[in-house]
Amino acid sequence: MADWKQVAARLFPDVTRTPDDLEALYPPRALAEGARVTRIAPSPTGYLHLGVFFTALVNRLTASTTNGVFYFRLEDTDKKREVEGGADDILKGFNDYGLTIDEGFVAPGVVHGDYAPYQQSQRVDLYHVYVKSLVEQGLAYPCFCSEEERQQAREAQEAAKCRTGYYGPYAKCRALTPDEALARIDAGTPCVVRLRSGGDESRRIAFTDLIKGKIEMPENDEDLVLLKSDGVPTYHFAHAVDDHLMRTTHVIRGDEWISSVPKHLELFRVLGFKPPKYAHVAPLMKEDGGGKRKLSKRKDPEAAMHYYASEGYPADSVLEYLFTVVNSDFEDWRRCNPDANRAAFPFNFKKMSVSGALFDLAKLSDVSKNVIARMTADEVTDAVLAWAKDYDPTFYETLAADPAFARGIFAIDRGGAKPRKDMAKWSDAPDYAAYFFDGGMDDGWELPEHLKAADAVAVLQAYKVAYDPAADKDAWFAAVKALCEPFGFCPDVKEYKKHPDDFKGHVGDVSTILRLAVTGRRNTPDLCAIMQLLGKDRVIARIDRAIQNLSE
Ligand code: GLU
Repeated sequence: MADWKQVAARLFPDVTRTPDDLEALYPPRALAEGARVTRIAPSPTGYLHLGVFFTALVNRLTASTTNGVFYFRLEDTDKKREVEGGADDILKGFNDYGLTIDEGFVAPGVVHGDYAPYQQSQRVDLYHVYVKSLVEQGLAYPCFCSEEERQQAREAQEAAKCRTGYYGPYAKCRALTPDEALARIDAGTPCVVRLRSGGDESRRIAFTDLIKGKIEMPENDEDLVLLKSDGVPTYHFAHAVDDHLMRTTHVIRGDEWISSVPKHLELFRVLGFKPPKYAHVAPLMKEDGGGKRKLSKRKDPEAAMHYYASEGYPADSVLEYLFTVVNSDFEDWRRCNPDANRAAFPFNFKKMSVSGALFDLAKLSDVSKNVIARMTADEVTDAVLAWAKDYDPTFYETLAADPAFARGIFAIDRGGAKPRKDMAKWSDAPDYAAYFFDGGMDDGWELPEHLKAADAVAVLQAYKVAYDPAADKDAWFAAVKALCEPFGFCPDVKEYKKHPDDFKGHVGDVSTILRLAVTGRRNTPDLCAIMQLLGKDRVIARIDRAIQNLSE
């Protein structure tokens, strides 16, 4: 009479190593007490989803705040979902947003670390060592049910109104003896390998999720597939083996996996592994029609990290905003520590949303305006050029034709105590900078209703005479002020407010006339600086054009 050892040997004739060998090969990490080892384990599906980035950020912070390790493992066992170069795009996304990875895949084409391989398709030998051992112990068994048989069984379960799945009395191949199993293997019948579950659906297990708190669920009693018929593991089994061998202490992942925890805990138990701590991250939410819904990969462009690059949100803005989403007290911390490095923020699972944090693009824009307002002219110019090169070639050429002029545009009103907050993203730059270029100035502007064209013409004509291109800010303003009285405008706003009927307007209206003539806009940064940058010829040409337009 054959035993399970013989079945195991027949299934895995080439496996010579034992679980103990692998324990020795991948020893516990030499880290200080309390250091947490975390990971992000995406499938190479081609694009980096905001949800994955967010989960990675939580993993990164968990490791960083405990002097631990954050590594990247590629879960590439599902060839149907795989996209050529899909891992590189994901890694580039992490790199571009400054989310550093300590180990495993750290950048496109760069892998390092002592717990290699970090790619599941290259770990098949390791999985087989454990499956073989489980089969030897009678804790796993080959199942020869075909897809059609499985389908029929499911339909029968549905018709009988019982839970579908391969468990207890419905686990047909569980009853096979080693001799019967050997006979089928020898006959060449394809098989998967299943766990012989010791669980009982009527019993409950409890565990503490670090984000969601205490959770109770029925025990797993399914005879899970561990290895598929092609020898490739299922997610569940690979999770247990990989996270044990890579010595992960905290498994932080999307909460779609929470219902699988009873399966995972059973796997860790039968494999003799200490289970990791679990933290399940709720999906990011979006306000929609007065309610909240999950951010959707299909409907919401902002669900892809690529969106932020193409819109030109600085990486720093995206991270700064995501910190406010990660932990509800980040904003308070930032107020107290305006210049501190985010890495010093004391991240805490307890401050995470249990049901799903709101992701709000308007709030991201506010955060980003502040981030951009603190950047230097050189930083802004370089970033705008880099963005435009990829996403707005015409604008790129316009700027690159005269880099000093471009720098001049972004230097205006920058660096002072109260910097302007006009731009939230680099794709705002073409509009922001349009009027600096002759072709980009909008001539369709209109005077505010209370001003008359004839008065504006008179002001502009007088300004042309008074205009001194070399004037500094004070002299420039004095010249504008000097235009007021001769044309019936009040040079003092307070005075004007006391007797508005005595004047055609005040000094602000005079500068509005000049601003409209020179830029086509009512609202711009410092007009004196704009005129200095534009230079005398352009300023005069624009004033002449305005006089002409107003006179028509
Ligand atoms: N490959 C799994 C996924 O992409 C990873 C889940 C996990 O972090 O364990 O959803």
